Amino acid sequence: MRSELRQSLYALVAGRVRFGVPLSRYTSFRIGGPADAFVEPQSVAELQALVSLLRREAIPYFVLGGGTNILVSDKGVRGVVIRLGAGFNYTRWGAEGERGHVRVGAARPLGRFVREAVARGYGGVEFAEGIPGSVGGGLLMNAGAFGGELGRVVERIVGVSPGGECWELSREELGFAYRRTALPEGFIVTEVHFSLWPVPQAHLQMAMEQAQRRRQQTQPYGYPNAGSIFKNPPGAHAGRLIEAAGLKGLTVGRAQVSEKHANFIVNIGGATASEVRQLAEQVRQVVWERMRVWLEPEIRFVGEW
Ligand SMILES: Cc1cc2nc3c(=O)[nH]c(=O)nc-3n(C[C@H](O)[C@H](O)[C@H](O)COP(=O)(O)OP(=O)(O)OC[C@H]3O[C@@H](n4cnc5c(N)ncnc54)[C@H](O)[C@@H]3O)c2cc1C
Repeated sequence: MRSELRQSLYALVAGRVRFGVPLSRYTSFRIGGPADAFVEPQSVAELQALVSLLRREAIPYFVLGGGTNILVSDKGVRGVVIRLGAGFNYTRWGAEGERGHVRVGAARPLGRFVREAVARGYGGVEFAEGIPGSVGGGLLMNAGAFGGELGRVVERIVGVSPGGECWELSREELGFAYRRTALPEGFIVTEVHFSLWPVPQAHLQMAMEQAQRRRQQTQPYGYPNAGSIFKNPPGAHAGRLIEAAGLKGLTVGRAQVSEKHANFIVNIGGATASEVRQLAEQVRQVVWERMRVWLEPEIRFVGEW
């Protein structure tokens, strides 16, 4: 990266920029090469100025949330990785005088927000107990579990467009679908408005505990992973197809198809991104050959491959 650009970045975000940062520190897989630059803006104004600068200079950027649904390449990410700073980590209740209305900063850990809602006796997000990552990442992925999806309780969002403008978008404009939204590439979510409703505490607690139990029974704890590798094809379960194809336990290097949940690939210690990707490709191929179903990845492949 040119030294004038490094200087501009440094000045813009009051020194909160680092260069050559290994992204393995910021992903749940514990895998990922370096980001050329890693910036943590603290306010919407700072973020807007940053996006405008990057656009002017034609520098690519990637927005990192909790890093729990991505596989970052071993070569890392060219350009800038933007991770929203502490200024985007908040929960503000009832700002519009409405019961159950809440504005949440995109950097808020999703699990924390879920527990805050439950503690106040509001329902709508308890299904998300145990989904790691941030509220912004959860919104972008339309995270879901046990029949619930984040998109169903979102009222609108605020964010910064690829042109550096501040936009507010309604739920209808977000085009929620299975594990995706219609947001344009490069759009950065800064705040999510949810509309929740009062539910008896005991009910919510029970739902959360049920979600925790189901996760403990079915998911591999102890090995770094990024959740489901593939989306469920219509009317089927990716995990069951992979298991039926006899692929549980298959390894490439230090990456393994989990023995516990076949739709998880785990890093059994020192796996590289290319090993995980090769294993995922192999799984996809074998499932196609044996079951005639072409699996679509749920995780996102990030960086230079
Ligand atoms: C153990 C485990 C269990 C999981 N269980 C589930 C589950 O039950 N259901 C489910 O849906 N997912 C699950 N996941 C996947 C993952 O946790 C979710 O998709 C999560 O919502 C991703 O959020 P994140 O902040 O980590 O996003 P990241 O992984 O950091 O990013 C994901 C995508 O969102 C984009 N993004 C992140 N933040 C922003 C932002 N502020 N603005 C714009 N774009 C942004 C990134 O650029 C990237 O494209 C699981 C993962 C793990 C490791």
